[in-house]
Amino acid sequence: MRKRMSVTKRLTAVMLLCSLLAAMSALSFAEAAGGRTVEKSSDGAWVCVKDGAIETSYTGIAKNRYGWWRIVNGYVDFDANGVYKNENGWWYVRDGKVDFDYTGIARNDYGWWRIVDGKVDFEAIGVFQNEYGWWYVVHGKVDFGYTGLAANGYGNWYIKQGKVDFSKNGIYSKGGIGYNISGGKAQGNGKTIYLTFDDGPAGNTDKLLGILDKYGVKATFFVTNCYPDYQYDIGKEFRAGHAVAAHTYTHSYATVYKSTSAFWNDHERIQKVLVSQTGQRTSMFRFPGGASNTVSRKYCSGVMTSLTRQAGQRGLTYYDWNVDSDDAGGTKSSDGVYNNIVRGVQKHTQSIVLCHDVKSYTVNAMDRTIQWCLKNGYTFRVLQPGGYTVHQAVAN
Ligand SMILES: [Zn+2]
Repeated sequence: MRKRMSVTKRLTAVMLLCSLLAAMSALSFAEAAGGRTVEKSSDGAWVCVKDGAIETSYTGIAKNRYGWWRIVNGYVDFDANGVYKNENGWWYVRDGKVDFDYTGIARNDYGWWRIVDGKVDFEAIGVFQNEYGWWYVVHGKVDFGYTGLAANGYGNWYIKQGKVDFSKNGIYSKGGIGYNISGGKAQGNGKTIYLTFDDGPAGNTDKLLGILDKYGVKATFFVTNCYPDYQYDIGKEFRAGHAVAAHTYTHSYATVYKSTSAFWNDHERIQKVLVSQTGQRTSMFRFPGGASNTVSRKYCSGVMTSLTRQAGQRGLTYYDWNVDSDDAGGTKSSDGVYNNIVRGVQKHTQSIVLCHDVKSYTVNAMDRTIQWCLKNGYTFRVLQPGGYTVHQAVAN
């Protein structure tokens, strides 16, 4: 009896301390989440509280020190399982709570979604798995309308209505190329190419999109607003299943490399264009001239050192390249672009290829360049947040 008493006393002390800590951290969370937190009400229900009252008008996700919770009309819905949104994103919820440990594919009434650490990754493009299979995902959502090939880090896969068909064997043809499929997987040389096109969209972009589509090849576009008449092509690239990332708005070295704040101001401008054309921001970008450029020194000493550090702090990833078509350098013919790419990709297991869709000779080289790569067993993929990147040595 005495022993039980002392346990009760100790528990009471711990509970007092806990509620004191909870009250303290509830304050800090309330500040972080726009004055909204989750608390236990006097009748024992868990509720969403704002300005000292149950926020019955709120349906979404709210957080407290124990986690992030699915709220329906002001109350935590412990029966909620699925994908729900709030102002910060779409979240994977289990028994009312966001499960930050989950990475996979989950569904709600609007579709099946690629989840990374509890959050829908709207930038995901490629083949991803969950406990029910391997799925073809475009901009975060499983595309059940797609039949054809798609790639991930394990290879190039035959997709039937959005799902890898592991029973598929034989020849699959696309764009005049025959792929030998065995157990759902296309035979290849194990090497990956990430085609990247900078500085557009512009007058040649439509033609390029047609060539990529012919082979079902997906590329990554680092876009600008240099040719505003072609802004609509950003939306077209996105809807065709390509990755669309930021280059800069102006692409003026004197403007963007004047200071770090000048760079990020310009970056926000191209993000706004992206949102207007695609409905979403990007976490991927490329520096004009690459991270190793020294031209920036003329405008601001050390600016690349600062910017490359700040990118990560802003949740952004930058991508340089390890194969240069040289189409912004001395190469000014389709033959030259073709030769540079074919020679370059043979030197790497993963090649990030720098091209410019603003150059007509580059676009005119793409048909046979892609043909050569496919016939020689290369797999094309798009750049992905958290995926393969190349960083050149910073020199300013
Ligand atoms: Zn550029």
